[in-house]
Amino acid sequence: MYYDYIQISKINDFTFCPRSLYFHSVYESFDKTQYKARPQIAGTIAHKSVEEGKFSSRKNILQGMEVFSARHGIIGKIDIYDTKKQELIERKRMIKKVYDGYLFQLYAQKLCLEEMGYPVKKIKLYSLVDNRVYPVEIGEKQKELFWQTLSEIRSFSFHKNTNVSKAKCSACIYRELCRQESGATRQNAAVNF
Ligand code: SF4
Repeated sequence: MYYDYIQISKINDFTFCPRSLYFHSVYESFDKTQYKARPQIAGTIAHKSVEEGKFSSRKNILQGMEVFSARHGIIGKIDIYDTKKQELIERKRMIKKVYDGYLFQLYAQKLCLEEMGYPVKKIKLYSLVDNRVYPVEIGEKQKELFWQTLSEIRSFSFHKNTNVSKAKCSACIYRELCRQESGATRQNAAVNF
C-alpha cells in the first residue's frame, strides 16, 4: 500500500527532465498562459474535449475517467477506454515521435484500469493534427524502465542537478524559472569561495 500516489500525467514530465516535475507541480494552479509555451497550450486544448466528455456519447466509451492503482501507488485520468474492444486510447495534439514517457503513461493507465476491473487488450496513441494512429506495444525493457522511473520519482531530490542536454533546456517551458545551469555554477562557485 502506498501513501504517496504518483500522478500519471507527471511521469512524462519526469522522463523529459526530473526538475520539470517540480515546476509542473508548483505552477499548475497558476494561469497557464503566464508560463506555458504555445505547443503545450494547444495540447491542453486538444485534451479538453476528452476531459469534458465531448468525444463520444456511446455507452461503451469511457472518457476522462479517473483511475488509480492502490497496488502500485499511481493515480490519474485516462483519455478514452472502449469497454467493448477493451482498448485504451491516448490522444495527443501532434505526435512526432513515440517517447518512452508516452508509453509509461499508457502503461500506468493500463495497470490502473486492470486493477479496477477493466481489461486492456489493445493500446493506441492518436495524433490529432495529422490524424495518425500508433498501435502501442509495451515490451519488457520498457516495463523495467517504467518501474525504475517510478522509484526514481519517489526518491527524487530537487537539489540534485539533472543530467539534461542544453538543447532540452533551451526547448523547456520552465527555462526562465529554472536555475539548473546557474545552480551548477553556484555549487562550483561555493567550492571556489
Ligand atoms: S530548464 Fe532544463 S533542467 Fe530546468 S526544468 Fe527545463 S529541462 Fe529541466
